[in-house]
Amino acid sequence: MICNRCKVDKSPDDFIHGKLKCRECYKKCQEYYKTHREQEIARAKKNINKDRVKTNAKKRESIRKNPIAYMLWNVKSRAKKRGIPFNLTHKDIVIPEKCPILGIPLIIGTGHPSPNSPSLDRINPQYGYVKGNVQVISHRANTIKSDATTIELRRVLEHMEKQQLPDLAKEAKNFHKISRYVDKNKKTCEEQS
Ligand SMILES: [Zn+2]
Repeated sequence: MICNRCKVDKSPDDFIHGKLKCRECYKKCQEYYKTHREQEIARAKKNINKDRVKTNAKKRESIRKNPIAYMLWNVKSRAKKRGIPFNLTHKDIVIPEKCPILGIPLIIGTGHPSPNSPSLDRINPQYGYVKGNVQVISHRANTIKSDATTIELRRVLEHMEKQQLPDLAKEAKNFHKISRYVDKNKKTCEEQS
């Protein structure tokens, strides 16, 4: 049996069970790690980060090339985990240039979700990710929508308008748009059922 450190052919008795290094080398290594612990940890961390940067770049590139496939894959696994019905295919998804609710441009492939990332929205949340019940909106609009009920949105909006803070005017506008959108969908959902 050849030790993978000193490359000397030794008897199996010279190895700790399951290790590829001989006892002698193993001991040396342990001593080295004892005295160079910080250094080795730093080196390992650096390598992990390098790999992460590489995979992130790869991921961004594949999202840019095929954003709909990426979106489907993401939603499908989420639906499976939560037991939500899913029957979408590539043809069921269209990514518009702008968010249909907020009117902000939809930007594909930034690697991590930004307010402008396209996001798949269930028009009626009671139904799953099924044909005819989805559309692509901005991540920002989807977050606001999923967090709040119409009543909550109105209360926040009223509060913001009362305070009349100029830097919140834009956010207030967002809430207006979302709440109109939620109302409209509610109506169509009621009409359907
Ligand atoms: Zn050895």
